[in-house]
Amino acid sequence: MTIASNLAQIRERISKAAQRAGRDPGEIALMAVSKNHPGSAILEAIAAGQTLFGENRVQEFADKHELLASCRNARFHLIGHLQSNKAARAAELFDSVDSVDSLRLAERLNDAAARLNKRLDVLIEINVGGEEAKSGFDPDSDELLALLNAQSRLSNLMIRGCMTVPPFTEDPEGARHCFRQLRELRDSLRARSGLALPELSMGMSHDFEVAIEEGSTCVRVGTAIFGARSYPAPYEESAR
Ligand SMILES: *Cc1c(COP(=O)(O)O)cnc(C)c1O
Repeated sequence: MTIASNLAQIRERISKAAQRAGRDPGEIALMAVSKNHPGSAILEAIAAGQTLFGENRVQEFADKHELLASCRNARFHLIGHLQSNKAARAAELFDSVDSVDSLRLAERLNDAAARLNKRLDVLIEINVGGEEAKSGFDPDSDELLALLNAQSRLSNLMIRGCMTVPPFTEDPEGARHCFRQLRELRDSLRARSGLALPELSMGMSHDFEVAIEEGSTCVRVGTAIFGARSYPAPYEESAR
């Protein structure tokens, strides 16, 4: 299996899932998650027409970045936990930070984006499963509301929606209630804040079809495109 044929298969499955759900497949972006894979794998995916990529770590992406400098159409989002002290570097390297999990981090990113004179897209990460090892806002937290209330002050950030990584279940159906919960939370945050919040980043290799049925606008697929990773994902590592 090549990266190109894997991408073609995933795109086909996205279309089918969208059709089943009565949705336009064009509303659903495919993010290729390239963490723990070399820059050459990203180049191969770009050659196959892929433009949106997700990376988990600032330093890992910084190391690949030079190789990708000529890929003007590719967009790179940070999807892993970000420490505040790396916010400036992240704001420089990435087109979007999809893993904003504290007000403090949002403030740091806003300051960094202001210094770079850029508008940085962000998503709010929500820990819908309430797992201790995972980052993300508690859906009921005051801090989440504080972040939305701070939006006018965070004028270099564009808060575009929500992201989640649900608890792993063998059966992808096990994640459905989490996906639904994220959509409902987004709807209520939208009503409270007046922000459009169009993006719902949810669904990974083994459950993206369920996520699409529940309203996902961006599925983050790693293993099913690039193959197995040789070491654990950072969000798994952080559990240790
Ligand atoms: C690794 C990762 C993915 C992709 O996971 P796969 O199961 O390999 O598709 C998606 N989202 C996040 C936040 C990740 O860390």
